[in-house]
Amino acid sequence: MRRKKIAELLESTDLGSEVTVMGWVRTRRDSKGGFSFLEINDGSTIRNIQILADDKLPNYATEILKLTTGCSVIVKGVLVKSPGKGQKVEVQAIDVKPIGWADPDTYPLQKKGHSLEYLRTIAHLRPRTNTFGAVARVRNALSYAIHTFFQERGFIYLHSPIITGSNCEGAGEMFNVTTLDLQGIEDGKVDFGEDFFGKPANLTVSGQLEAEVYALALGDVYTFGPTFRAEDSNTYRHLAEFWMVEPEMAFCDLKESMDLAEELIKSILAYILKNCKEDLDFFNRSFDRDLIQTIDHTTTNSFERLTYTEAIEILSEVREGFEFPVEWGKDIQSEHERYLCEVVFKRPVVVTDYPKEIKPFYMKVNEDGRTVKAMDVLLPRVGEIIGGSQREDDYETLLSRIKEMNLDPADYWWYLDLRKYGTVIHSGFGLGFERLVQFATGLSNIRDATPFPRAPKSLDF
Ligand code: ATP
Ligand code: MN
Repeated sequence: MRRKKIAELLESTDLGSEVTVMGWVRTRRDSKGGFSFLEINDGSTIRNIQILADDKLPNYATEILKLTTGCSVIVKGVLVKSPGKGQKVEVQAIDVKPIGWADPDTYPLQKKGHSLEYLRTIAHLRPRTNTFGAVARVRNALSYAIHTFFQERGFIYLHSPIITGSNCEGAGEMFNVTTLDLQGIEDGKVDFGEDFFGKPANLTVSGQLEAEVYALALGDVYTFGPTFRAEDSNTYRHLAEFWMVEPEMAFCDLKESMDLAEELIKSILAYILKNCKEDLDFFNRSFDRDLIQTIDHTTTNSFERLTYTEAIEILSEVREGFEFPVEWGKDIQSEHERYLCEVVFKRPVVVTDYPKEIKPFYMKVNEDGRTVKAMDVLLPRVGEIIGGSQREDDYETLLSRIKEMNLDPADYWWYLDLRKYGTVIHSGFGLGFERLVQFATGLSNIRDATPFPRAPKSLDF
């Protein structure tokens, strides 16, 4: 008989029917009356199904009484109404077949209550815990909601390249990609002509430049894929490998792009409120008592919008508590971002029109000549979730910006061509997917928001 997933069984009203459950034992409790309760989980839901196994089963003493946390089993039985609290149905076992044993003396998840730090060292087993099962399901739902959001609006999903030949995407340090034997290279004498591509290659830090190519042909596109940054930042919100969602829209200015960003965040959060209720309840209970309220508040209230200059004015009134100085021309740090969201406005904040010196060359320069049409969306707890801009669409201005920043125009020949042939106003942004998972789950460290985190000096799986 085909297995039924526990998520489905727990909602079933088909009492008396014969069912097959396959999963992993979470707990076993034995009763003096000659029967045992097994709690089984199969990952389809945070909830377990209870199996009632009595001592008339032929392998009761030899096998069932030896089942411990982590063992895998196939259970055949009858779905019955549960007399216990907390579940509507349970399974009266006809047959309980152990498949894989898990030695309780060595199985790391035998005991409950491990720290998140410890669980990172067993990334191959942590998805079997309530927390990481729930993270995986919420992450999945967020991805689905993102694709749905864009597909419903006629955006084309673009697969931008992972390996790139331009080391000049203007966002952080890059990882080299090479087939050269690094052991055999003497200091400073790398001949990239001998390398796989015959020139230096890197892992992408962003799909934006390629997305612009497609936006200027197809109108509205988005990428959703892995990006890589070799910055040596050991923080609660940086990974070396993370996923980014990057919509890019032709015939769209900064204001429309901000509207889309706000709609996107609200729409995907509303989706998980509706579809991940049990997992969010769990995070709310276990990690952040205000989680659901914060998400709900985010979906129903408008985001505060202000310029960088206004933000600096507000922040410079704050006299104590900041580690980094607040000064026009300096970047807004995560402590400032969180202060704006959590203390000043108590909601998400969109900051626009940053000084051009602290933003990349491709952002459209404002009429004032000092600021660019940039926007960052900031959320409580995680700070910057989105960075975006209207792109410079004027050939001459873009060229002089490239030179101003001491970049080589030859490296950007195709990017400049987009402004030479049929240029249009266009805008886009990048949303950090793991930061969204952090926000949606209430987990404080981004390393718990991705299945196999990559961070400086940390590549264990
Ligand atoms: P930050 O200032 O927070 O380091 P950034 O300004 O360098 O971020 P962008 O280049 O604007 O980042 O990237 C777009 C989005 O990608 C950010 O708003 C953020 O949500 C996410 N992001 C950037 N760097 C990382 C990282 N190292 N790990 C996880 N997410 C990241
Ligand atoms: Mn940014």
